[in-house]
Amino acid sequence: MRRLRERLRALVAPPAGAERLVAEAPPVAVRELFARFWPYARPYRLVMAAGLAFALVVPAFEAAEIWLFKLVVDDVFVPRDLGPLVWIAAGYLAITVVGGVVSFLDDYVDAWVGQHFLLDVRAALFSHLHRLSLDVLDRRRLGDLVTRLTGDVQAIESFILGGVSIGVTALARLVLFGGALFLLSWRLALVSLIVTPLFWWTARRFSGLVKRAAREKRRRSGSLAAVAEEALANAMLVQSLNRQDTELERFRRENRSIMEAELAATRIRSLFGPLVDVVELAGVIVVLGTGTWLLTSGELTVGGLIVFLAYLTQLYGPVRSLSRLSNTIFSASAGAERVLELLAEEPRVTDAPHARALAGVDGELELRDVTYRHPGAAAPALRDVSLRVLPGETVALVGPSGAGKSTLARLLLRFDDPDAGALLLDGHDLRDLTVASLRDHVGLLLQETLLPDATVAEVIAYGRPGAGDAEIEAAARTAGAHDFISALPDGYGTRVGQRGRMLSGGQRQRLAVARALVRDTPVLVLDEPTTGLDAAARERLLGPLGRLMEGRTTILISHDPAVVAHADRVIRLEEGRVVEPVAEELTA
Ligand code: ADP
Repeated sequence: MRRLRERLRALVAPPAGAERLVAEAPPVAVRELFARFWPYARPYRLVMAAGLAFALVVPAFEAAEIWLFKLVVDDVFVPRDLGPLVWIAAGYLAITVVGGVVSFLDDYVDAWVGQHFLLDVRAALFSHLHRLSLDVLDRRRLGDLVTRLTGDVQAIESFILGGVSIGVTALARLVLFGGALFLLSWRLALVSLIVTPLFWWTARRFSGLVKRAAREKRRRSGSLAAVAEEALANAMLVQSLNRQDTELERFRRENRSIMEAELAATRIRSLFGPLVDVVELAGVIVVLGTGTWLLTSGELTVGGLIVFLAYLTQLYGPVRSLSRLSNTIFSASAGAERVLELLAEEPRVTDAPHARALAGVDGELELRDVTYRHPGAAAPALRDVSLRVLPGETVALVGPSGAGKSTLARLLLRFDDPDAGALLLDGHDLRDLTVASLRDHVGLLLQETLLPDATVAEVIAYGRPGAGDAEIEAAARTAGAHDFISALPDGYGTRVGQRGRMLSGGQRQRLAVARALVRDTPVLVLDEPTTGLDAAARERLLGPLGRLMEGRTTILISHDPAVVAHADRVIRLEEGRVVEPVAEELTA
């Protein structure tokens, strides 16, 4: 038997590693999972306790309902007496109604707690992501972050809350139904609880083999498709090299292996399918035989035997849900690992304990010997950069791509701090200021202006919630955006669509200028504001940009001579260092 099984197994060997994958220990232990995520569930602990109480009561109603059937058989059917039926029916009715209410409450309370937990964990993670340094977000794929925010958090919830409730209900069922078995007849209970798992386990081993053979078959048909697709997609190459025979041989080989897998699967299925039935039947017969014997000896009533079998079959359910629970443990712990990894990322830029809020800014900027290297980069992006910008002055930063211009912009908004040297605003080291108050005074306008999906008015007011309609319109007029906005179907109330799909690049940029005007910050950082626009759009943007920069300390990063012409001074960066500006750039 053992040899036969081993040979069969060799025949339908699972793909390498598949078994190991499942058997691997969970990366985050269950205890840690609870310890780390319990704080999010804690506020709902009273509701959760109620949910658990319901989870315990629901199986009691199920057990009672089955028991009523014993009364029907023994007190109504066997003596052929209609009398007790009234009471039994009343019992059924009561159990059904009350049980229904309890079951509804159980479901609803579980969902309520689960959804609140999900919302809280997701919100915590989302706000944590926004506190992290930009490069953490740059380094990761957006889709991956979104999965962690949705699927992985869901997996944790399924286990921590859903899993606990399922586990409690399953255990309660096991205890209640198992207890009922012993109450009916301890002898038959002992026999069944020894015999049934034994036969069940044997049957499972066989059906496992059948399943594995089927899986192998599926796997091989996948590789056939791959081979055929590869050969046909490269038909020109294959034919030009006269390799049709080789490809045919490869195709045949794959087909043959599918044929073998199919035949093996059929052999196993047709051999073991009936065998599984026989084994299961044997288990049933042993229990039935013993039951009948106890029936004749008077230890069991007919109704007792019938509901005994009912309880016995009902035991499969909880056993199955408990074993399914082990799967949720694996996905929850994998999810927890990915969520905890994100939560473990520390923001690099935080408020210093002594940081104070910035108020009333003149706008004098200074860089003192600033050196900065991106995490993981080989060379510094900025080396000993020193620069002074007077209030209201516009300084253009030019230089080849990769020179460090955007990096400088990042440091000005404190998306990161320099490794050496300091940046100062009105003589205050940026690290002595709170991050929020700094960003309240420094406006940023990027090359690719991202707009939230909102109305035009909301987009303009995004930088300063609460801005009035008149202010918004005035800013739009100054930004040269009022005319095209008025032509939109709903004017300022038109939704711009995700990422501003409804608008052209130039229109989006003019909205960004309007937004910067509404924010009205004394310091401005413009990073390639005209890149990607066609000549006409660029032309229309120049006026608004000039009006925006007027009277503000501006760092203007641009390749565009027409834009650079607005600057009072041009600074050239090369490989992270300031070099002398070329004369033409000043007059360009
Ligand atoms: P510019 O804006 O002048 O084109 P950047 O400031 O974008 O230059 O880049 C300066 C240098 O820093 C480049 O060598 C670039 O490869 C590197 N760099 C920029 N951003 C990152 C980042 N997030 N991580 C690692 N290196 C970076």
